[in-house]
Parts: sequence; C-alpha cells; structure tokens
Amino acid sequence: MIDLRSDTVTKPTDAMRQASFEAVVGDDVYGEDPTINKLEETAAELVGKEAALFVSSGTQGNQISALTHCKPGNEVILEANSHIFMYEGAAFSVFAGVQSRPIVGDRGAMNPEEVKAAIRGTDIHYPETGLICIENTHNKAGGAIIPLSNMKEIFEIARMNHIPVHLDGARLFNASVATGISLKEYAACTDTLQFCLSKGLGAPVGSIIAGSKEFISTARKWRKRLGGGMRQAGIIAAPALIALTENMERLAEDHDNAKKLAEGLESVKGLSVINKVETNIVMVDVSKTKYDAAQFLIELRNQGILAGAFGPETIRLVTHYDVTSKDIEKALSRIQKALK
Ligand SMILES: *Cc1c(COP(=O)(O)O)cnc(C)c1O
Repeated sequence: MIDLRSDTVTKPTDAMRQASFEAVVGDDVYGEDPTINKLEETAAELVGKEAALFVSSGTQGNQISALTHCKPGNEVILEANSHIFMYEGAAFSVFAGVQSRPIVGDRGAMNPEEVKAAIRGTDIHYPETGLICIENTHNKAGGAIIPLSNMKEIFEIARMNHIPVHLDGARLFNASVATGISLKEYAACTDTLQFCLSKGLGAPVGSIIAGSKEFISTARKWRKRLGGGMRQAGIIAAPALIALTENMERLAEDHDNAKKLAEGLESVKGLSVINKVETNIVMVDVSKTKYDAAQFLIELRNQGILAGAFGPETIRLVTHYDVTSKDIEKALSRIQKALK
C-alpha cells in the first residue's frame, strides 16, 4: 500500500524507537523529565520564543492556547476553512466558551482589512475580540503558504488593538522549508504558536505550544486541568526530539514528490489538480471521471493506494517520509489503472 492519506501516518524510525528505549525519564508533572525538558527548550529556541510546552496533539495545542488567551464570551477571528473552525469539533465553543468569527480567505490568507473590520468595538451588545488565529501552511487550501507579509500586517493590526495572535502552525516547518523564511521570522508575527511533531516531521506523538514564559506557565496549568499532565513522557519526547532536530530539511523531498505527483496527475484524463502545490498536499478534482470521490477512493484502494476524500468530488493526497520518489511513479501508474 502507498499511503497518501496524510503525513500523520508515518511510522517511527528505528532510531526513534531506539531513542525511546534509551530515554532518560522522570515525572514531568514535577518538571523532572529531562528528555521532555530538553524537547521543550529545543523547541522554544528553534522558534525564538521564551518557553514551550509539549502537548498530546495539534488540536490540544490549539485548545489550550484558546483557553489561555481567552475568557468565555470572547470572540475569535479565524479563517473560514481553518482546521480550528472546520475540524476540531467546535472545541473552541465547548471548552474555551468562545464564539468563532470566520473570515473567508484567499488560499487561506485573511485580508488584513477584513480582520481589522471584524474586531469588535466597545458596545454592551458585543462580545470582545479575544484572539486572532492564522493557519500556516493552510491545510484546506492545499498546503498553501500564508505570506509572511500577510502575517505581519495582521499582527500589526492585532497589536494596535491589544489582541493576541495565535498561529496554528501544524505544518509551519513545511512553510519555512519551502520559502526559506526561518521559523523565527514566522513566529515573530505571532504571540503564540502550535506546531505538530507528528506530521511531516515524523514523530509518533505530539505537538508543541510556544510563547512567553508567563503564557506557557498558564498553558501548563490548562493542560493539567484537561488531564494532559503526563508522567514519564520522555518516552515519547525522545523520538520527537529526533523529529524536531533531524527531519526538517528533508521536508523539501516531500514537496518535490508532491509537485511530481501533481504534474503526473495533470496528464491523467479526467483528473485536475485544483491547488497550487507549494508544499506536501495535492488536491484533485475527480468530477470529470465516472466516479465521485468516495468511489474513486475505493478504486484507488483496489490498486494499492490510500487517499482521503476532501469533498464530494475532491480527494487529497499527502506526501511524507514513508513515501519515496519511486512510490510516486508507482502511484501515478496505479492511478491510471484505477481509471480504466
Ligand atoms: C492536523 C492539524 C491540526 C491538528 O493536529 P492533531 O495532532 O491531528 O490534533 C491542527 N491544525 C492543522 C492545520 C492541522 O493540519
């Protein structure tokens, strides 16, 4: 099987398993797990923030960030197709008690003028704007890179209005590798960010929240309240450290593979790639074939390819480190077979 459903499907390497085996651990709720401490320090340093916190998932990272930034009754400005709005089970409302204010972006990028206009004034009828969220790269826009200039403009508007900015940077490392803009430069346009270790970087588990010392210490309390205080978590931090320190540059291979896949798909009759492929995600419209997305996925599975549906007539293919350039060639010929 060539598994192109998501970059979350990667298996830990032998080196990662060995690192888990050898990890020096302690009770992280007491702050005594050296491997967790090293992971958090390394992560904070990489993105240029004072402190970082290891959390179970990207979703938990976003939720803890909202809980830490906001009060119930606040409103959060975010992009209408963002992961937080589309795919987190309305957790912002359920846990943080905040209301979302979606703005439709252009390839995931919100227009700064629209963000500005959406900030609430003081009026007894209004919620207070408590947070602005940006997603980079933008998943539903097909791994689209949000331009640094856009992030800067939004951050400036936010600052003038004393509103914090949180970056859902589940795939921020992909953006950084593709543009050559450092993680620090992106992170400098946000108060806090979340990034996934368990996607392109290939760790088995976990995400990082980074921000000021004060923010992270409150976030740590929220994590505990949610039952996310883990004990000898160095066992999972050790492979995550490898992911963080060794697997960034190789994301360029995933991007090359995604481009190669997209080019190949463009010449397959009936299929059209609907996103500009900038990172590791390819979105394909299948409406000109005899199948809808669900049926096409079954045909693909029969040929030994796994992909995901991203709409009634759209499928998503994601490259990652368990997929080689050879696999892409194989996948392309199998996709042609699936259409016969
Ligand atoms: C995957 C993803 C998340 C959530 O991460 P999980 O670890 O799956 O909870 C959040 N935001 C974006 C943009 C994502 O792609």
